[in-house]
Amino acid sequence: MPSPPTSRSKTRRTATLVARARSRQRSRILELEAGARPLEPDAPERDRLMAETHGYAQRFLEELPDRLTYNHDKSAAAEIRTLGVGDGVHPIGRLIDRFDQSVVRTGLLPAHAGHLGYIPGGGLYASALADYLAAVTNEYSGVWFAGPGSVEIENQVLDWMADLVGYPEGSAGNLASGGSLATLTAVVTAREAAGLRANEFERAVFYASSHAHHCIEKALRVAGLGEAVRREVALDDRFRMIPDSLADLVAADRAEGLIPWLVLGSAGTTDVGAIDPLSDIAEVAEREHLWFHVDAAYGGFFALVDECRPRLAGMERSDSIVLDPHKGLFLPYGTGAVLVRDANALRAAHTYHANYMQDTLETEREGRSPAALSPELTKHFRGLRVWLPLLLHGEPPFRACLEEKLELARYFRREIAELGFEVGPEPELTVVTYRWLPDTGQANAFNRALVEATHRDGRVFLSSTMIDGKFVLRLAVLAFRTHLDTIDLTLDILRECVRELEGHPERWAAE
Ligand SMILES: *Cc1c(COP(=O)(O)O)cnc(C)c1O
Repeated sequence: MPSPPTSRSKTRRTATLVARARSRQRSRILELEAGARPLEPDAPERDRLMAETHGYAQRFLEELPDRLTYNHDKSAAAEIRTLGVGDGVHPIGRLIDRFDQSVVRTGLLPAHAGHLGYIPGGGLYASALADYLAAVTNEYSGVWFAGPGSVEIENQVLDWMADLVGYPEGSAGNLASGGSLATLTAVVTAREAAGLRANEFERAVFYASSHAHHCIEKALRVAGLGEAVRREVALDDRFRMIPDSLADLVAADRAEGLIPWLVLGSAGTTDVGAIDPLSDIAEVAEREHLWFHVDAAYGGFFALVDECRPRLAGMERSDSIVLDPHKGLFLPYGTGAVLVRDANALRAAHTYHANYMQDTLETEREGRSPAALSPELTKHFRGLRVWLPLLLHGEPPFRACLEEKLELARYFRREIAELGFEVGPEPELTVVTYRWLPDTGQANAFNRALVEATHRDGRVFLSSTMIDGKFVLRLAVLAFRTHLDTIDLTLDILRECVRELEGHPERWAAE
């Protein structure tokens, strides 16, 4: 049936309207594209931005030795808000300047050689370049299907770490953002491997010494096990776990109908750098079917140094272990590693499937995608910042740097004892504890004033802790830039500060 003429012209009109709407929409899209253009700087603009950024980085590294390690005055931090987010645009030079004043020059400067507190971090330049490449290419590293090469890189560096630890074939691991998140992954794996159900959490028992890092407590709570039973295993006179004490506690708990579940051994405690007798703990754990987790966040990479290997023996018998590349491999912050001896246990605790991920399943059967082995899906391409420095520099400089730190810690302990300080045990790794005993007055008050005096000085950064009720100072040598001159400077500063405080008892004796 022929359509009436009116309808034909209507169709034509509709077609014109559709064409106009389409054209309006296209111009709007092009307008928006133009509006978004600053997000994609062109080559000359990239050169300019890079020159400013690189120029700052070069000046920073050149001036670094002359900067303070610690700036007690933190008032400039809040001034970061003088530049409002969402309030217009600013030239990169101005932003970098504000960053320098408010961020880099306040508080602690962890990249500095003088960072000798807590467990120092690093800041390898090669890792900064890797982060730059990872960000520019924005490679996906969550699943092998999308990022086969980046997943290979992550697994390659994890295999290297597993070799270092002494794990057999069939282990797997994950690069997390830090030791705490890596520990959480281990705890969740241990929970699932033991088949613990919610109604058993109150009877599950976790064993550690009083010197275990608090991240395990946090991990237990986050993993839903805040109500688990804690047992504190006794320490020997060098702050190492006594395995017989562990065995006794486990036996008593079994007799009471509890579920002995997880034991944590430290390969380098934060307080004093003590290494628990890992082989003996492994013995008890194997006999009692406990999950044996080793916290090697601080000490793990000392396995690269021959001298330390015997002290770390037994870590290869653990079920899971955490190492922190942003400590012992001197990486910038943002990378902690967990390794699990039985890859299937790690996988069983973390693998999920979703329809929108169906394209990835075929290759996923190999099962070594980070997404199948960790809580994350999309993640920072952390593998590259570990891989690049290791392949660019090779292992020998890492070994030398770690061995240097061991010698520096021993050197400091001898020299500080010579200055008249009371010193803690010979370090197993690179932490030295020490305190000054004033002729009169409270030793704790004196040493608190002493550490505060060093903070006001700021040329180096020292921290303190309490050991058996005694306030002691700690020296932790792990920053890769720390060398002999830094330690000599530290000795000078401590000598000066003690002299000053001894001459002014009113500054500390009032307490
Ligand atoms: C630093 C550290 C942790 C925690 O690691 P983060 O990377 O800070 O989350 C755990 N255990 C020990 C012994 C550590 O030194």
